[in-house]
Parts: sequence; structure tokens; C-alpha cells
Amino acid sequence: MTSYEKLLSKNKDWADQQTKDDPEFFSRLASIQKPEFLWIGCSDSRVPADKITGTQPGEIFVHRNIANMVVHTDVNLLSVLDYAVNHLKVNHVIVCGHYGCGGVKASMTNHDFKYVLNMWLRHIKDVHTIHREELAAIDDEEKKFDRLVELNVKEQVMHLAKTSIIQRAWKNDNRPQLHGWVYGLKDGIINPVFEMEAGTQLDPLFEYDDL
Ligand SMILES: [Zn+2]
Repeated sequence: MTSYEKLLSKNKDWADQQTKDDPEFFSRLASIQKPEFLWIGCSDSRVPADKITGTQPGEIFVHRNIANMVVHTDVNLLSVLDYAVNHLKVNHVIVCGHYGCGGVKASMTNHDFKYVLNMWLRHIKDVHTIHREELAAIDDEEKKFDRLVELNVKEQVMHLAKTSIIQRAWKNDNRPQLHGWVYGLKDGIINPVFEMEAGTQLDPLFEYDDL
């Protein structure tokens, strides 16, 4: 059996087991999706949203990209956000980064990763620039790396708050709450590092006054 055939075979086992455990499982999920959470995570294969949070299919709406970035011109991310907030009406948006993130690490080097990757990593370098003083004061390279991972998550949560999608939902519906979390590859524990309640005051430059 090839590696991908193994996936298909494992899928059959899983579907059988689910049906055995809960005969209504698939018919229930097929008719409705009502997740309470939107998860914006890293594409890293070691950070699966449902496994590390003990959630089931149907509970988390997921978007993943390299280093869990919220880029304000990313139509993919914004479409997911719009759909999750305005149609699924999620109450919580979680940006979950992880210590040891290869994307963040790459952004700390001066290596040319060529074309598209350079472009993507630039967004993390921008975060680095904002917090240059704090990061420069950390001598230990590992600690500096960990801190940049945390600061990156915080900045991405703030990027969410700067969108009209979030600001309109805050104004009209007093939701969603925004969360910045960092997952530890070494111990499997999620460290909550930042939070924004609905209606949090932002830098006025980014606040829409005619929503
Ligand atoms: Zn990562």
C-alpha cells in the first residue's frame, strides 16, 4: 500500500468507527455547520487545530497559512473571516501560532528564500520592525525567537481588529472576541498571550467611523 492509499484506508476505518460510536454523527453534520470558533493557524503539520483542542468535526472553522498571518490584502483570509463572522456568526476568532515556527525563524535570517516566500516573510519582518527595541534587548537567540512568535500572534490579532469586518460585528453584535494563542511543540500546551474584547479601542487611524 502506498502512503496515500494508507490515508484512504485509514479514512474508511475512521468513518466506520465514528458511525459505530455515534450512528447519527454524519447525518447530523451533513445538514448543518454551526461552529463557535474561527481558527487562524500555521500550516505546520504538527499543529492540528482539532486534535490539540480536543474538538470534533463541526466545532472549528479553520484557516491556515505559513506563520498564521492576517494580511489585510489576503482575499483568501478575508473571505474566510467574512464568512465565519457574518454567516456562521462565530463568537471567537483565535490566532494560534506556535513556538519553533519555521516561518518566523526564516524571517529572522537574511537568507534569500526567493520570490513569493520572501514576500510572505516580509510581513513577519514588519512585525519585527515594530518591536525591534524589545527584541534587540533579548540576548538569548531562542528566547528572542519565542518572543517574536508571541509578538507576531499579537500583531495578527490586532490586524483582525483593524478590518471593517470585525469592527462592524463589534458594533452591531458585540462579538467576536479575539484571542492570540501560542502552542508549544515541546509540551503540547497552548499559552494564551493576547486578547481583545469586542469594542476594544484601537489606534484611531484604523477605526472606521461610518460603519
Ligand atoms: Zn509555523
